[in-house]
Amino acid sequence: MRVLLLGPPGAGKGTQAKLLKEQFGACQVSTGDILRRAAAERSPLGEKAAALMAKGELVPDGLMIDLVAERLRGDDCLAGFILDGFPRTLDQAEGLEAILEAMGSGLDCVFSIWVPHNVIILRLEGRRSCKTCGALYHLVSQPPRRIGVCDRCGGELYQREDDRVETIRARLRVYEAQTAPLVDYYRKKGLLKEIDGVGSVEEIRCRMLLALGEVGT
Ligand code: AMP
Repeated sequence: MRVLLLGPPGAGKGTQAKLLKEQFGACQVSTGDILRRAAAERSPLGEKAAALMAKGELVPDGLMIDLVAERLRGDDCLAGFILDGFPRTLDQAEGLEAILEAMGSGLDCVFSIWVPHNVIILRLEGRRSCKTCGALYHLVSQPPRRIGVCDRCGGELYQREDDRVETIRARLRVYEAQTAPLVDYYRKKGLLKEIDGVGSVEEIRCRMLLALGEVGT
């Protein structure tokens, strides 16, 4: 399986990528997670990325393309990959095509998960993640048993700095201007599977599996 997930922030890309990973054993490449780790470790990449991420802006294409090229060469990606959060610009999409061509590989399909902006704002404002294991919660729809504490590992829950409402709006503007054109780009290549992203995690997972059945993975 070699797929990528497109969609605005809060569309559920990360959640669905994890489920696909568990089901198909492909590796999940989440550029947002990689950058957040780099920022926490204060690596040179992390130092560059942190300020841009806090404002909801994109990290430069060249850095992102090099990062993904290196990640996809990892042994754990040999059996397939689920790209979540990359590409986000046309230049990144062309960079990905060159990376895959050099590897003698290509994409099976591209999911575009669509969710209206008002739903996204509600989802992201209430999102909390575990600092230790990365488990995701929502204050209203999936609250932890104890406020601020991860059910799974007891770690501390936190709100991502870029999940505050003004930054969410900035990220949505960036998505519409720079990433939304990729939907047409992949539609023209015959790779696009459009998924309605409103509903429960399980409903959306079923829609994606049905769409995957059509591509015969
Ligand atoms: P995400 O977790 O996918 O919402 O990404 C969080 C932030 O990381 C984004 O708002 C960007 O600042 C940065 N980021 C993640 N992926 C990319 C990418 N492919 N290109 C540029 N910036 C990215």
